[in-house]
Amino acid sequence: MDFSKRVKSISASQTLKITSLIKKLRREGRSVINFAAGEPDFDTPDEIKSYAKDSIDSGFTKYTPVAGILELREEIARKFRLQNNLKYSPNQIVVSSGAKHSLINVLMTLIDEGDEVIIMAPYWLSYPEMVKLSSGVPVIVSFSRESGFRPDFDKLKAAITENTKCIILNSPTNPTGIVWREDELQSLGRIALERGIFIISDEIYEHLIYESEHISIGSLSGEIFRNTITINGVSKSHAMTGWRIGWIGADIELVSEITKMQSQMTSNASSISQKAAFAALKMDDSWLSFIKKKFKERRDVMMQMLDGYGISFIKPEGAFYLFMDISRFKGGSLFFAQELLDKKLVGVIPGEPFGADDYIRLSYATSIENIKEGIDRIGKFFNG
Ligand code: PMP
Ligand code: GLU
Repeated sequence: MDFSKRVKSISASQTLKITSLIKKLRREGRSVINFAAGEPDFDTPDEIKSYAKDSIDSGFTKYTPVAGILELREEIARKFRLQNNLKYSPNQIVVSSGAKHSLINVLMTLIDEGDEVIIMAPYWLSYPEMVKLSSGVPVIVSFSRESGFRPDFDKLKAAITENTKCIILNSPTNPTGIVWREDELQSLGRIALERGIFIISDEIYEHLIYESEHISIGSLSGEIFRNTITINGVSKSHAMTGWRIGWIGADIELVSEITKMQSQMTSNASSISQKAAFAALKMDDSWLSFIKKKFKERRDVMMQMLDGYGISFIKPEGAFYLFMDISRFKGGSLFFAQELLDKKLVGVIPGEPFGADDYIRLSYATSIENIKEGIDRIGKFFNG
């Protein structure tokens, strides 16, 4: 069959593919340690589940407004204001079926054929594919491993052309765990304004920061705010990856174009999930403190053990990933990850689809016992 150029131009999500392979191996009884997971291992909090069950029982099972129910958009606006210092009104918010959906909605609304989108490497592997699906051209700017993959603004400026439409920012960053500092965000904000390009700020890991505090780039100034599209959701913050709720905050005209497009493509996000997301945002901060504490403990154990084995990595300041250096091995990260799975039953995501083939990504969204066992296996593989 002759498929479209669009679909032929992209590859399937390696994170989702490897994660499901590992889950399958575990179901078959193999004692695989899963460091591939891109989702919290905690269950969705009970109060969210019961609120969702009540909404099913009360018949809240029909179409909702395309952009999402007002009570949820009001709650998101409140969250933006209180947690991010961003003043979006409810009619500047569109709720979609996960932050991934929000991202592609934004790209498909902004990008024409040939428009360039800057993606900073290492990057979350879906960004380039989403840009290609939107007929755009992903322009990869690779930061150096020597600088610990911190932003390099000369490189960034050099990549901007008259076709550049936007840049994707992701802090905390998947896969490195890097958190952008305020001065770095200021520099990016300034460059974007000077060169007339939009910033798409994916803040999905904002609540998982271990050394500092999250800063939304849109909060830096009124001008930067108007030039930024902010993306977030409940997948990572409330262990709700399967519920599929994400949202954008943006300029009202962009929001109305996205709503128009979503009205023809998917309509509203699931009514039950919208209620569940509402309940999540209503919860007090103790849940967020709890998961942050847990992830920090796990991160610290993973770092200490890797140090013990003399293995280098980028120190993660946020999210729940650690980017581990495998440059002394030949064959690249895909081969390394396959060997590690075959020989030691440890599942990881190779760095190649993140734009860094000398690395693998380890997720610490798993128990301390698993981390100890898994890093022991990696240590033996590395040094054996
Ligand atoms: N952005 C980043 C950086 C991610 O890692 C993910 C992974 N799930 C998403 C967005 C999408 O999240 P969601 O589950 O809400 O679609
Ligand atoms: N974003 C997560 C990850 O990077 C989940 C999988 C996905 O959506 O790609 O592993």
